[in-house]
Amino acid sequence: MLKKSLFFFPLFFVALSILSFTEKQKAVKTIIIDPGHGGVDQGAAGLISTEAQLSLAMSKKLGDLLQKELPDVKVLFTPTTDIIPGNSRNKSEGLRWRANFANQSKADLFISIHCNSAGRSPGGWYEKRVVGYDEKETYVGKGKKKKKKIVKVPIYESYYVANPSKGTETFIWTAKENSHKGQLVGSSAEFEGTEGDSSIAYEENDPVMNALKLVYTKKYFLNSLRLAEMVQEEFTKAGRVNRGVKQRNDVGIWVLHATGMPSILVEAGFISHKEEEEYMNSEEGQNEVVQNVLAAIKRYIQALDNPKKDSNENTIPANSLGALLNENRKKILS
Ligand SMILES: [Zn+2]
Repeated sequence: MLKKSLFFFPLFFVALSILSFTEKQKAVKTIIIDPGHGGVDQGAAGLISTEAQLSLAMSKKLGDLLQKELPDVKVLFTPTTDIIPGNSRNKSEGLRWRANFANQSKADLFISIHCNSAGRSPGGWYEKRVVGYDEKETYVGKGKKKKKKIVKVPIYESYYVANPSKGTETFIWTAKENSHKGQLVGSSAEFEGTEGDSSIAYEENDPVMNALKLVYTKKYFLNSLRLAEMVQEEFTKAGRVNRGVKQRNDVGIWVLHATGMPSILVEAGFISHKEEEEYMNSEEGQNEVVQNVLAAIKRYIQALDNPKKDSNENTIPANSLGALLNENRKKILS
């Protein structure tokens, strides 16, 4: 036991010194913009549009704006048209393609844009309620025993229920997927040394590499959480309903832990909410959403590039750490 910890102790510092060395480079050089769904997979349906259409429209606007405002950053899209990316045959193949594309592009940030959906149907639905009773004659029994009977029959009224769920949420990958994310760490550009030299070969189960993977896994989680918080803060400033930073296990979120870089999935609003769907279809709404996400990305890059200048920006908000880290403490920090 003592021998083992003496062996790993210096390795941890080797890992940390490599980390602080790579940290000095520009933190974000390549950003992947990933419009959710597409092609035969249109995602959730609204009254006047589909999730794939809105995600693509907002993604393209976000990418164009990023390119204009941050000309030094390379912006790549998974698809730029309404298709399953990579000519994939189905949704899950498409998701694999998205993650592979991000990993092969050595991206530093992966941003997936989606729309949310809830309730029985987009817009709303009709429900019935009892508003009174009618009396109705009916007969019970047979032959001579047949008798007349008065029964109460409810009178119904239909009323419309607007689909109530609205607001924005940003997802980060689930902590229990740490091991998977850690395996992909080597695909990040910051892992390559100063000149992007990918020829550095690591033996499988190399203890230094394994220590680095652990350090990076935690770093990616914290950076994803940090950016997700900033996105939600910008939405809140714009007056949107803030549903918070969340974690979820489902097929769409798979891309978040299959990508070896900080990654977030933004649910820009509820397509099932009539007004929010109209907002996300409008030029004004789309521009506001992408301005909010852009503002968060700028703050994130600023915080990573200048960690000492603005210590507040560099601090993970306590509430997020409280809610997410504590909740998953054993899983993340073990
Ligand atoms: Zn979606």
